[in-house]
Amino acid sequence: MTSIEAKSGFCFGVIKAIQKAEEELQKGRQLYCLGDIVHNEQEVERLATMGLITINYEQFTQLHNVKVLLRAHGEPPSTYEIAQRNNIEIIDASCPVVRHLQERIRNTYNSAKPDAQIVIYGTKGHAEVIGLAGQTDNKAIIIEGENDLDKLDYNRDIYLYSQTTKSVDTFRRIVEQIEHKMQDAHFEWHDTICRQVANRTKELRDFAHQHDVIIFVGGKKSSNAKVLFAQCKSANEHSYFVSDITELTTDIQQACHDKRVGICGATSTPLWLMQQIAEKID
Ligand code: SF4
Repeated sequence: MTSIEAKSGFCFGVIKAIQKAEEELQKGRQLYCLGDIVHNEQEVERLATMGLITINYEQFTQLHNVKVLLRAHGEPPSTYEIAQRNNIEIIDASCPVVRHLQERIRNTYNSAKPDAQIVIYGTKGHAEVIGLAGQTDNKAIIIEGENDLDKLDYNRDIYLYSQTTKSVDTFRRIVEQIEHKMQDAHFEWHDTICRQVANRTKELRDFAHQHDVIIFVGGKKSSNAKVLFAQCKSANEHSYFVSDITELTTDIQQACHDKRVGICGATSTPLWLMQQIAEKID
């Protein structure tokens, strides 16, 4: 028996970005997207067949007089400056949650003491983190986990934020450790993890417990997929990560045989992809 977890699939930020892309493409106009619209190769391919052209930053700087969609991850100020210089029309699909976080970081950067440290718990090089750090003229310190805490100076003020898709548990441990290490300086932390992600943790763990085998469907580049898969795996050791139907190996299919199989995914996993996997297993 196979079932797809009810709330798996795109979060509202990604749904909105894809809708915007589809609307523009249906008008028949040429549309570029700066970076993959979502960290899911199959969905990127689907939109490419509709005409969406994915470009990287270098290509973006070379373009003039075109339309470019900015995806849900958000962008640093430099992207908007380039667009203005090159007469590029921006279709801004930055997620409102990310945009709000960018504003908060920018306000802190503008109002904190000059030697204060703006710290972002996030993945270096991730598009959202680039956009967040850009609000601080790239002066923010990026920490990927507890092992990076020795990068901070505990004698100077610290303002901690998080990338929206990181783990709440690790964030809490980071806060505890900083509180413990702080000397005579100000420490302020803001749990800015998106609740579309954080609230998923318990639901997914329950779902993983209720099934014999879990097939987690997610893109290899998706940080949200990594976090959520880790939760499934810790709740049910018979959890497998696949990106598409071709990764459903004979071993995995055998493990699913005559079992209660649960299929779930990240906020970047399209429902149609999970349905494909379910059909193959049934
Ligand atoms: S996970 Fe949350 S912050 Fe990120 S795009 Fe989705 S809704 Fe927006």
